[in-house]
Amino acid sequence: MSTKVSTYENVTRQYNKAADLMSLDPDVRTILSKPASEIIVNFPARMDNGHVELFTGYRVQHNNALGPYKGGLRFHPAVGLDEVRSLATWMTWKTAILGIPFGGAKGGIQLDPTRYSAAELERITRRFTLALGENIGPEYDIPAPDVNTNAQIMAWLLDTYLTTRPPQERNRNIHVVTGKPIECGGSVGRDKATGQGVLFVIQQWARDNGLDLRGATYFVQGFGNVGSWTARLMKAAGARLVAVADISGCFNNPNGIDPDGLTDFTRTHGGLVNGFPGLNPIEFRTYLSTKADIFIPAAMENQITAETAPLLNVKLVAEAANGPTDGEGHAYLCEKGIPLLPDVLTNAGGVAVSYFEWLQNKQSEYWDLEEVDSKLLKRMTAGYQAVRDAAKAYSTDWRTACYIVALSRIQKVYRQRGVAP
Ligand code: NAD
Repeated sequence: MSTKVSTYENVTRQYNKAADLMSLDPDVRTILSKPASEIIVNFPARMDNGHVELFTGYRVQHNNALGPYKGGLRFHPAVGLDEVRSLATWMTWKTAILGIPFGGAKGGIQLDPTRYSAAELERITRRFTLALGENIGPEYDIPAPDVNTNAQIMAWLLDTYLTTRPPQERNRNIHVVTGKPIECGGSVGRDKATGQGVLFVIQQWARDNGLDLRGATYFVQGFGNVGSWTARLMKAAGARLVAVADISGCFNNPNGIDPDGLTDFTRTHGGLVNGFPGLNPIEFRTYLSTKADIFIPAAMENQITAETAPLLNVKLVAEAANGPTDGEGHAYLCEKGIPLLPDVLTNAGGVAVSYFEWLQNKQSEYWDLEEVDSKLLKRMTAGYQAVRDAAKAYSTDWRTACYIVALSRIQKVYRQRGVAP
């Protein structure tokens, strides 16, 4: 029986493996071995019943050698220092792989959002923003949506942050957050960006490996922003969704599930897939054993493990979620020769379009969808090629190759800048 390691321990092992293989500069290795800062805030918010509840929020800033800290905010009961540290570290690698001038950060609040009304979530978000204070800022640390957060929550964060600035400075600060509603300075294409990036990476891989996506089958875990967009875009590419899972259960339909219809259904059913016509409920293990060309985890960490990896019956795992595969699950897939497109490359489309949104805000511009998508394709393709080439050059797995690409870029900056004083 395996001994479970924490998610952050898994991140550290991935890091050490790549650092050893590429002989990372020892000083750089030391600097990157821990996050630069870890902020924990306990803050009150008033509930609809008139009482005050105390919440714990986190912001971990891993590294900003390449640019301002950047990363999402998650509202989930499992949010804690270990998880946020891991997610912040992955953000550093992700931005570096795509050549985006941002560092890595992540944050969140430990709560179950289904237990709170919209008015309570608004007050919680606003108080969290105030509690973070000067720890965020448009040229310093820029949040974005993640699990259980969305454009509306970013709009509340924006509004609250701007009230802390003098009136004459407010319009120059709207790039404090990305993933905003378009009317508040958001970018077209940001809502689908992560899924679009996932599709671009899968398409590149399919081209390299002779898989025709037209008629290919896939299944997805998680049907929120990333899962539903990926599924809809895979449909447009000709692939067929044969199973889906979310917090309401696991389901299949070998004849195909319509991702557009399912997305419309979830909008009126509390965001859940359960109850959509044609879905057959199945056990988790049966779901994971689905025979398909591609499995796309798009939910939470540590889903593919020593216990679950042997169930998979696919030609490719495309990690749309962050950290869906733990160390042992990854080792199993490598041993069996099942290709895996790693999270820090595959889901980087979200932060890429967040960067485009940030640039548009700084320049008071609005780009059209064609421009956003073509710039995204360029970034994802370059990232994909860099990782593929590194995997070949170092004869290693793609996850280690991702780290090598990222670490090489950050190492260059540290070597040039040195460490003051
Ligand atoms: P979301 O809140 O919109 O959706 C999450 C989905 O996962 C929901 O369908 C939920 O029911 C499902 N889910 C949660 N726990 C589950 C479980 N234990 N088993 C099965 N399903 C479960 O979140 P999202 O923004 O789509 O994020 C999903 C993943 O993608 C996360 O790992 C996130 O960090 C990552 N990610 C998101 C973005 C982004 O732009 N939103 C960018 C990069 C990576």
